[in-house]
Amino acid sequence: MKREPAAGLAAYAATESTSRGRRYPEPPPQYRSEYQRDRDRIIHSTAFRRLMYKTQVFVYDEGDLYRTRLTHSLEVAQVARSVASALQLNEPLTEAIALAHDLGHTPFGHAGQDALNAAMRDYGGFEHNLQSLRVVDLLEEKYAEFPGLNLTFEAREGILKHCSLANARELGELGRRFIERRQPGLEAQLANLADEIAYNNHDVDDGLRAGLISIEQLMEIELFRQPYDAVAARYPEIPARRLIHETVRRMISRLITDLIEHSRANIEAAAPASIEDVRALSAPLIAFSAEVGTQNLALARFLRAHFYYHPQVRRAAEKADQVVKRLFSAYFNEPSLLPNTAIAADDTRARARRVADYIAGMTDRFALRAYRRLTGSSVNLSGTA
Ligand code: MG
Repeated sequence: MKREPAAGLAAYAATESTSRGRRYPEPPPQYRSEYQRDRDRIIHSTAFRRLMYKTQVFVYDEGDLYRTRLTHSLEVAQVARSVASALQLNEPLTEAIALAHDLGHTPFGHAGQDALNAAMRDYGGFEHNLQSLRVVDLLEEKYAEFPGLNLTFEAREGILKHCSLANARELGELGRRFIERRQPGLEAQLANLADEIAYNNHDVDDGLRAGLISIEQLMEIELFRQPYDAVAARYPEIPARRLIHETVRRMISRLITDLIEHSRANIEAAAPASIEDVRALSAPLIAFSAEVGTQNLALARFLRAHFYYHPQVRRAAEKADQVVKRLFSAYFNEPSLLPNTAIAADDTRARARRVADYIAGMTDRFALRAYRRLTGSSVNLSGTA
């Protein structure tokens, strides 16, 4: 027997009975909920497997312990599910959104996205959130009956985290909230903040591991200093690695606890009776308290200044930028190099989009191999070179 999908859910959660449905109507799943089906389709997608070889922060270090977009997405899903369950939100939907949120990301982290956006300037630009939606709506080739994964409206709403107004106008119902400044469902709001919690904290861990940031620098960050001092005082003999991991664990725990408690208070105050009530609000209900929000922002700013803009990361980013731009011009000027392509020769906009889709789908190492094949030279991406 299929479990009652709405069992244990709050009135404001996404439910199958209030779902806006799929673009191509399908018979209901026999043994799963609609949102479990969304999640399962994402896990079986090609784009999801490629996340394994796409970097999150482009450190370009050979180490095997750094986060990739795949492990990042799993950590986001883990954080999001904990909060969803505490707030009686729809956990499979939250998980689906978290697992899919980075499917449209280019190779080489944000450097790749910026380079592709610059190359696409005359052809409608490139936005990675919109690209994630393109992947699940159009680019995945998995099913006989429809293009893409044919996910529910609620999953697609969550995947499209940000969107420019120009693009929102092209997206019909899905784009409307950006124009009217309304909110997505709580599961989408939650996946967005779970992303932040996951990357801020794992970037502290990865940044320390790579030696690009130091404990001394991090001591200026309250969110780090408080648990670090507490752990060091309580366990004076603790080895350095365990001290760092215990500190990061406590940071995540602090953020998650605050998010649950503050969001619960927001929900109680607004008292939405349905997901439509949530969508009609002008501000999100899933949020940190003012105090923890400020601390979290300080951590984000610290990481930007000291990690994402570290000279070594920037040198790697500049080379990644060259690779992506060179790939773009090569495929744009010679579309026969693209796999299974049939594009009218005079439709430059369609050609550019096809090239952007192809490059965005590449893993870091696939892009480097393609570059070598096209140029006959290999690029040394080691940040120290
Ligand atoms: Mg992310």
